[in-house]
Amino acid sequence: MSKKSLLEKIASKIADCGKCKLCEGKKKKGVPGKGNSEANVMLIGEAPGHMEEIKGEPFVGAAGKFLDKLLSHSGLSREEVYITNVVKCRPAENRELKSNDVASCGRYLDKEIDIIQPKLIVTLGKHSTAYILSKTGLEFSGITKIHGKLFATSLLGLHVNVFSTFHPAAALYNPKYKEMLQSDFEKLGKIVRGEDFSE
Ligand code: URA
Repeated sequence: MSKKSLLEKIASKIADCGKCKLCEGKKKKGVPGKGNSEANVMLIGEAPGHMEEIKGEPFVGAAGKFLDKLLSHSGLSREEVYITNVVKCRPAENRELKSNDVASCGRYLDKEIDIIQPKLIVTLGKHSTAYILSKTGLEFSGITKIHGKLFATSLLGLHVNVFSTFHPAAALYNPKYKEMLQSDFEKLGKIVRGEDFSE
């Protein structure tokens, strides 16, 4: 079966999943990842928000619009990457994620990673960074300390590079994150193009 078909299969499971507390009172479907099934680069956010839940696609609201700008700083486009979230259902009233939400939904992210086999995973924000690093054995010392750094590691039996940065929504509330995100995405572009970059 092609990667595209495997992703479609997992997407329909995500849409109708009712396995955890995030589904309680849920009216809309879960939001699977979207993008190029042959992507080398996979970006992982936190959880769908209101707009994502309506459209059934990740990063289509305000944070998504800023993510598009950031991608253009790196020279990447949505068409060449795969974008997903660590948690597939919108937390009620956009509450902070709990560790058991991530633990329960992580199986879908693991499956997406296993299908895509990305060469580079970009984690956006603390939840996806903590989840991905927990799979590698690398210590997570906080996003402020490790953002903009590249780690060659292995996870789920895959040799992969991990690059972490802040969640794009952080820049919508605090301009200082905007500059750091832009600079991290410029660095990301250099990494993808195989150019020299300073840590
Ligand atoms: N924030 C996320 O982490 N993911 C989305 O899909 C949208 C906003």
